[in-house]
Amino acid sequence: MLIGYNQATTLKSSNVETDLKYAEKYGYDFIEFQMGQLNDYFGRKSISDLKEFFSQSNIKPYSLNALEYFNLKKGEEFEKIKNEFLKMCKISKEIACDSIIIVPSPKKDSISEDEIKKDSIDSINILADIGEQYGIKLAIELIGLEEFSINNFSQCYEIVQEINRNNVGMVMDCFHFYTGGSKIEDLRKADSEKIFVFHIDDSKDLPLNELRDSDRLWPGDGVIPLDKILGALKFIGFDGVVTVELFNPEYWKWEPEKAIKVAKEKTEDVINRFYK
Ligand code: ZN
Repeated sequence: MLIGYNQATTLKSSNVETDLKYAEKYGYDFIEFQMGQLNDYFGRKSISDLKEFFSQSNIKPYSLNALEYFNLKKGEEFEKIKNEFLKMCKISKEIACDSIIIVPSPKKDSISEDEIKKDSIDSINILADIGEQYGIKLAIELIGLEEFSINNFSQCYEIVQEINRNNVGMVMDCFHFYTGGSKIEDLRKADSEKIFVFHIDDSKDLPLNELRDSDRLWPGDGVIPLDKILGALKFIGFDGVVTVELFNPEYWKWEPEKAIKVAKEKTEDVINRFYK
């Protein structure tokens, strides 16, 4: 299985140049950019510099993280989202990165499941039209917290299925899958082609509703049933890229090189049980 590095893992301790250097050194196949880091990079260097790097490197860009918060927006607010997405599409196309991760909004008071579904489908279809012009795929990343509008696997998958477009799929993030109370049976029924991005991570042993991104642990060090998740992915024939994505402030205290190296080793230890 090919392995990607998500910049969130060293978000506060590193930058694009350093992440690329060590991700390449330790043999990752892909990098997923965090937009804050990428925008910082463009303050120092140009997109041509980035293209130049990729032209000489084994590592390739995999996705931009992320367009936040794309749904439940009206008028001006949604225009802003469209413009931001368009900018991301242009960057992606330029560096030959074909996926953009899109993140749902927190829920508004008293909105029903049906209203969320309808609004999300309408919003994604508009964005997917833009993405199509640039050859970009949209990967919806559910946020496994009660207060978010798309917060579990089956709800997200249903939206993807109803949209039924080649360039719309989802992110399977183990932490969000777990905190949102998603079911392994639902993953086992999914079409693997609709899983565009697979984020691996683990979690501290706390009540689900108390868990936040900062509670993510190295794969294999926590309580997420990663074996069951990987078994289900293997069962449905998923054969994509796995990307390690943590947001743990403790790991941000590490030297980036050490964090990037350990992230790869921990990821391999877990996935090698199912994928070679
Ligand atoms: Zn993720």
